Amino acid sequence: MNQGLPPTAEPIHRLIQELNKLPGIGPKSAQRLTYHLLRAPEEQLRLLAEAIVAVKQEITLCSTCFNATDSDPCLICRSEERDRSKICIVEQPQDILALEHTRVYKGLYHVLHGAISPTEGIGTDDIRIKELLERLKDSPVDEVILATNTNLEGEQTAMYLHRLILPLGIKVTRLAQGLPFGTELEYADDVTLTRAIEGRQEF
Ligand SMILES: [Zn+2]
Repeated sequence: MNQGLPPTAEPIHRLIQELNKLPGIGPKSAQRLTYHLLRAPEEQLRLLAEAIVAVKQEITLCSTCFNATDSDPCLICRSEERDRSKICIVEQPQDILALEHTRVYKGLYHVLHGAISPTEGIGTDDIRIKELLERLKDSPVDEVILATNTNLEGEQTAMYLHRLILPLGIKVTRLAQGLPFGTELEYADDVTLTRAIEGRQEF
């Protein structure tokens, strides 16, 4: 460990290494964050550590839509104000956050937890497709909105779902307009996402 680097105290080295494992945090950022945390009040660090542990202990998946939640069914599935005739299909729970932020969509969601990707060995049984079909059976849903990412995996998944859902007599639409190819939903801005929802087209 630490080879070729000036000696660093073990706890500092350890925190840098842990932070470095997070997405989007390279070695330099991990170092900067570690020294920032070192200067912060102990109380703040305790709250941070507790929040990190709580997110794992208290969050489960909604048994209906598979959104991350601390109550089952989740707030959206439970809400009386949501339009139960529409289900928007997303890849990850954070995509719901991005879509909710626009405030234009009032229907329900279904989180697949991934996308079909033969190159990564992710097949149709590895994401929550079976659960979706089960949900659509005898449901009041009249429109399914495919809001998977606009990259190769997202498009493949949308096409596969389209083929499965169409025979059920449910309208299938796709968020597309304004979303350039390769867009990950969680990083799309509000204006683009709003246009994408409002301008959704029959698939
Ligand atoms: Zn739910």
